[in-house]
Amino acid sequence: MLTIPAAIAEDMIAHARELTPHECCGILGGKLESVSQHYRITNILANLSEDELTRFDAPKLSDLKQLSPEERADIAFQMDSHEMGKALRDIREHGISLQAFYHSHTMSPARPSQTDITIAMEFEGYREKLNLPEPLHIIISLLNLDSPDIRAFRIRNHEATEVSTTVS
Ligand SMILES: [Zn+2]
Repeated sequence: MLTIPAAIAEDMIAHARELTPHECCGILGGKLESVSQHYRITNILANLSEDELTRFDAPKLSDLKQLSPEERADIAFQMDSHEMGKALRDIREHGISLQAFYHSHTMSPARPSQTDITIAMEFEGYREKLNLPEPLHIIISLLNLDSPDIRAFRIRNHEATEVSTTVS
């Protein structure tokens, strides 16, 4: 069970709304599945030029190259690695640990897409080298604009399992 303070959940939803139609992304830190810190991270896919995108050779991006920047950001996110490093350092300095990554789905339900699972598994590939705990993956869906849906998942062996979440 992941506990998210109401103020942080509201800010995550505000972040998702501000970035629409692009996906937003960010990091949550805390202790024992209780969130206490929230970091908005830039989605670099929303801002990449065509040139920059061709230098980006991750296999998961091969299909994305055919899309317009808007379409691309609608379906995918990539956290700015510099900001991500800063957030993870700040989490360490607060004596807490990484709890979750989050991103938004503007037009689909709060369930990990195949791309989300691929990204999560890629992260698992180098997480231990970074000496980080296994994060949950949170999706904020704006499919129903009046009642955004926040759900958390554990992603292991290419499978996503929902973990219950409370906002308090
Ligand atoms: Zn997604």
